[in-house]
Amino acid sequence: MVDIKFSNDTPPSEILSWSIEKYYPRIAIASSFSVEDTVLIDMATQIQPNIKIFYINTGFQFKETDNVKEALKKKRNLNLIEYSPLLSIEEQTLKYGPKLYDRNPDVCCKLRKVEPIRRALQEVDAWITGLRRDQATTRQKLEVVELDYKGDGKPLTKINPLTYWTKKEVWNYIQNNKLPYNTLYDQGYMSIGCKPCTRPVQQGEDERTGRWTGKGKTECCIHTFLKTEKSEN
Ligand code: SF4
Repeated sequence: MVDIKFSNDTPPSEILSWSIEKYYPRIAIASSFSVEDTVLIDMATQIQPNIKIFYINTGFQFKETDNVKEALKKKRNLNLIEYSPLLSIEEQTLKYGPKLYDRNPDVCCKLRKVEPIRRALQEVDAWITGLRRDQATTRQKLEVVELDYKGDGKPLTKINPLTYWTKKEVWNYIQNNKLPYNTLYDQGYMSIGCKPCTRPVQQGEDERTGRWTGKGKTECCIHTFLKTEKSEN
C-alpha cells in the first residue's frame, strides 16, 4: 500500500501531480462527466495531456451527459476510452426480463457498470475518482489515497483528489475556468447516473439521495462492489 497522507488543504492539482508522476501511464481517471470529474480532467490534462480517461457507457445515460462528454472532448483532445457492458440492453432484457434496474438494481449495476469497470481497471495500477466527503454521509470517512482491489483481487491504488473539496469549490472551479457541465444540474439534479435511476433532489437532501430512490441503495456500485468482492474471495 502507498504510505502517503495528504493534508486536508493539499491542492487537488498537487495530488494529481504526485499521482501522475508515480503511476503514469498505468493510471486513469474514471469519469461519468460529473462536475467533479470535469475538474479533475481539466487539472490532470494540464499535467499530462495523454492521461487515460475511462467512461462506462451503460446505454442508460442521459443525452445531457453525452452532450457534456462531447463538449469536453472538443475542448481538450481527451484520451477517452469507452467500455460497454457485454450485453446490449435488448440482450439483457431477453435474458433477465424488462426493467432489471427496478427489480434488482444491484444485478443491473453489476452487469452494466461493475463488469466493464473491472475490465478497465486491469489496464492500470491506480485510478482517480471525483468522490468528495461532503457528497453523502456514506462518504465521510473517504481518504485521499486508499487501497482498492481489481476484480481479480489484485491491489489497486484509488486516489480521490477532491476528498476535502466542497460542492461550492467544485462549482467555482467550473465557472472560473468556463468548463462545460451537464445542464441537468440546472434542473435540480445533483448526482447524475443512469436515466432510470436518477432524479432531482430537494433542498437540504444529501446530494446522492436522487440515486436509486426507494431501492435502499445510495452508494455507487463501482465504489463498493470491488471491495465486497475482495472480502468474499
Ligand atoms: S444505475 Fe440503474 S440503469 Fe444504471 S446500471 Fe445501475 S441499476 Fe442499471
